[in-house]
Amino acid sequence: MKCSFCNNNAIYRYKDLYYCKDHFIKYFEEKTIKTIEKYSLIKEGDIIGVGVSGGKDSNALLYFLNKYTEYFNIKVYGVHIDEGIKGYRDKDTLKLLEIARLYNIEIKIYKFEDYFNTRLEDALKISRDMKSCTICGVWRRWLMWKASKDLDINKFATAHNLNDELQTIIMNIFEDNIKDLLKTGPYTGIIETDFIPRIKPFYFNSEKENYIYSIINNLAPIYGECSFINGEFREYIRSKLYNIENIYEGFHEELLKNILEIINNAKVDFKNMNNIKLNKCKICGYPTTREICRACEIRLELKNG
Ligand SMILES: [Zn+2]
Ligand SMILES: [Zn+2]
Repeated sequence: MKCSFCNNNAIYRYKDLYYCKDHFIKYFEEKTIKTIEKYSLIKEGDIIGVGVSGGKDSNALLYFLNKYTEYFNIKVYGVHIDEGIKGYRDKDTLKLLEIARLYNIEIKIYKFEDYFNTRLEDALKISRDMKSCTICGVWRRWLMWKASKDLDINKFATAHNLNDELQTIIMNIFEDNIKDLLKTGPYTGIIETDFIPRIKPFYFNSEKENYIYSIINNLAPIYGECSFINGEFREYIRSKLYNIENIYEGFHEELLKNILEIINNAKVDFKNMNNIKLNKCKICGYPTTREICRACEIRLELKNG
């Protein structure tokens, strides 16, 4: 098939249009810029952090934002959290550093062991009753917050795509999780005002489009993706939604846009109802509803345990 815009061979089709490599890049980047502008995700002078695992999605987002720093007049940092799990992240990290060198991107690395005096593996040996995901999640969030303080980051960008988001929304509706449901959208952090806002520039780009964009730009790690599995329920929802997409092309996009409209109206009411007051952690200053934040609590527990 030929590209709908020039004489080259097409590598991608969506609805009635075919795209060659160059026209796909143009389509993808213009769509992303449109999302950014429509939802005011970026303002001049923003210092944006991208949490980068080394996987293709976050690499692609970092690459994109870096490519457009002058256009938006922003500064961009890649923030890489190293959990210290042997043999797991090493190769993804190498790919990330290679990309950073190639495109002159600043990457800051934060290691668990530098801040919590222990590696995740060792922490798990001591703390048998705590799940690895719990500790890992709490510490990752804390380090992202630390990075924002160190680097003056005022927004974090994540690489969530159309398909991820719709799955999350359906799961939240199913689980009656209204609070998280209202947190969805390309711009979040409105409810917890003390936290740094999260932006999702790839919000309306599909999983497939992100994949193609990262492959074309040589951003995908050779050794595969993060080995954490998605979870059975998400996989189930994902496959059902794709079944519908295969029959009604554009289903994800249409449904997400409509749900977003409903959520935006509901958000205002909910915010007024739930004015959560956040304190600062007595030890480290992290915003929390408790006296001492979870990250410090775990750190103390490990020290005493
Ligand atoms: Zn073309
Ligand atoms: Zn703390």
